[in-house]
Amino acid sequence: MVRYQKVSKSFGNLEVLREIDLDITPTEKVAVIGPSGSGKTTLIRLLMTLEKPTSGVIEVDGELLWHEEVKGKLVSAGEKHLHRVRGKVGMIFQQFNLFPHMKVLRNVTEGPVHVLGMKKEEAEIQAVEMLKKVGLGEKTNNYPSQLSGGQQQRVAIARALVMRPKVMLFDEVTSALDPELVGEVLAVIKEIASEGETTMILVTHEMEFARDIADRIIFIDGGCIAEQGPPEQVLGDPQCARTREFLSRFR
Ligand code: ATP
Repeated sequence: MVRYQKVSKSFGNLEVLREIDLDITPTEKVAVIGPSGSGKTTLIRLLMTLEKPTSGVIEVDGELLWHEEVKGKLVSAGEKHLHRVRGKVGMIFQQFNLFPHMKVLRNVTEGPVHVLGMKKEEAEIQAVEMLKKVGLGEKTNNYPSQLSGGQQQRVAIARALVMRPKVMLFDEVTSALDPELVGEVLAVIKEIASEGETTMILVTHEMEFARDIADRIIFIDGGCIAEQGPPEQVLGDPQCARTREFLSRFR
């Protein structure tokens, strides 16, 4: 579903990702962990096309990001191609990024109407379905400022889900929340994961959550994948000294 081949990313002289090779299979749930500044967010921002790799190739659902194949040759992707592939990916950020002047329902219908060209009535039916799924069926007429941080983050999840992405990216989605609101957001993500259909990549500092939800844990250190495997292995019996040192901070 997602393939990174020798993907590197630098910001000026700072090499943030180094020749990453990574294959993520359809419906797989992958948790990305690692120290601050190790490149976790950059890794998933590349998939959302919020950053462009310095070198290497990325594929989503069998299609190349940034490049397309024309007459057997790899060329820079045109805007139309990029738009189509980008539509397969949804991302939820640390800051919820809702439109403050729009009610909850409209926050969720904007994408289907303006990006997918869906009729407003149909978009509203689907938006209500997604808002119910995240436990906010009663809040469609509220403004974001009238909701708690946990509720706002759940609206952001509904807004991503309604676009029916093949891959969902979660970037430390509970980091900006008060501790008592973290559980409700993690519960919604767990619920979506348990439905099984969507490929999910989660950057998280919540180790217990990662253990619960992930098929695979990837430990990134210094822009490289230092260790990866099933949660019981990486979290329970890490082979790499750096992973052990990192995990010891959470005990
Ligand atoms: P954290 O856990 O603290 O969020 P991270 O592992 O997600 O960290 P990234 O956000 O990917 O790390 O950042 C990796 C490095 O790249 C950091 O040193 C960061 O300062 C740098 N960086 C990220 N984005 C940019 C940018 N747009 N311009 C310059 N440097 C950047």
